[in-house]
Amino acid sequence: MAPALSQIQKEAQLSARKFAEDVLKPAAQRVDTEAEFPSDAVRAMADLGFTGLSVPEEYGGLNRDALTICLVTEELARGCPSTAGVLMAFVIGIQPIVRFGTAEQKRTYLPDLAIAKRSICFAVTEAHTGSDVSAISTTAKREGDGWRLSGVKTLIGNAVNADLCILAAKTDAGVSVFIVDARSPGYSVSKVYEKMGMRGTTTGEITLDNVHVPNLGLVGVEGRGASLLLGTLDLARLTLAAEAIGIAQRALEEALSYSLQRSTFGKQISEYQAIQFMIADMATSIHASRVMLHDACQLADGGQSFTREAAMVKLFSSEMANRAADTALQVRGGWGLVDRSTVERLYRDARYTRIWEGTSEIQRLVIFRSLLKTERGG
Ligand SMILES: Cc1cc2nc3c(=O)[nH]c(=O)nc-3n(C[C@H](O)[C@H](O)[C@H](O)COP(=O)(O)OP(=O)(O)OC[C@H]3O[C@@H](n4cnc5c(N)ncnc54)[C@H](O)[C@@H]3O)c2cc1C
Repeated sequence: MAPALSQIQKEAQLSARKFAEDVLKPAAQRVDTEAEFPSDAVRAMADLGFTGLSVPEEYGGLNRDALTICLVTEELARGCPSTAGVLMAFVIGIQPIVRFGTAEQKRTYLPDLAIAKRSICFAVTEAHTGSDVSAISTTAKREGDGWRLSGVKTLIGNAVNADLCILAAKTDAGVSVFIVDARSPGYSVSKVYEKMGMRGTTTGEITLDNVHVPNLGLVGVEGRGASLLLGTLDLARLTLAAEAIGIAQRALEEALSYSLQRSTFGKQISEYQAIQFMIADMATSIHASRVMLHDACQLADGGQSFTREAAMVKLFSSEMANRAADTALQVRGGWGLVDRSTVERLYRDARYTRIWEGTSEIQRLVIFRSLLKTERGG
């Protein structure tokens, strides 16, 4: 059963709902059409404490649990999926420092990140590999008091706006994780991608040409970067599921309200059982996703392993959000497909959730491997 929300969780949810309703919803269409990075909304989210949700209080954050982060993400995504995506990039980029950083790294980076004075991106993907982290070819070679990094990272969310980049590179010991200052000589955003959805987020290519990174830049243990990244991805998958649920919830609201306005053959379309069943199925799948998400968050917040549950809820919710957006378009008929309707935008935005933070196929691999481990007594 899903856990009851605490007072703090309810307050965060309500605050995000109000912000989404008052600020994000009215701007969402423009953010999409103009592919406009929502900088004002990011500043407002910093004032509300959202950018520092996962940062410990001693470094200026709110130190909230996974469930609170997901409740906030769902509400923001209901208002504007792109803006929620920008917040997700923050939460995910900050995680390696929060979980694996040294006291010096935390002191150096977290206070500015918590209030969005600086922003961050998380760069693993390269042109030839997204799903297989071990196949990256960006290198980090030891040199004097630090490292020299070279390589090209592709499809990186928030790349354009980031002051810092958490990235994966290979050292002699294997995949390792570094924090790189985007102002370092040799670091550049070499391309910005045009996107079909989530158009308020920026996505770019980052080139590292012999970039010097001081010793302070190595996060966690050299060569153990793959497990560090996978640990970070578990939380990222929960927030991604929350994003998908927010998109689906908005699709449901749009479908329901349209069904009450539109008439055919002398009746509101909401009076047809075909339409009622579509909407009832959407609501049922959203509820199932939410229960799964809250259950996975409970495991995460209780300090238990939640890799399998994170993959399951990410898979289920992202596939569900795509079906929900498709159904909402169907309910709206031809009017959903012209003049940039809200449901058309949701349909395009939802598509990203099946790719981000590991594709649906990769989630199935994670789930199957976890089942196998249990079967073999692991
Ligand atoms: C807008 C956007 C923002 C992004 N932001 C970031 C970011 O901030 N940081 C970052 O590092 N990356 C980011 N990515 C990259 C994203 O994580 C990858 O696109 C994703 O992981 C898939 O990798 P790929 O595109 O290389 O596909 P591939 O790994 O080449 O996969 C291609 C297809 O093969 C399937 N496949 C691959 N391996 C297997 C397997 N073993 N079994 C079955 N099927 C398999 C996949 O599911 C997919 O359908 C972003 C992508 C987009 C589009």
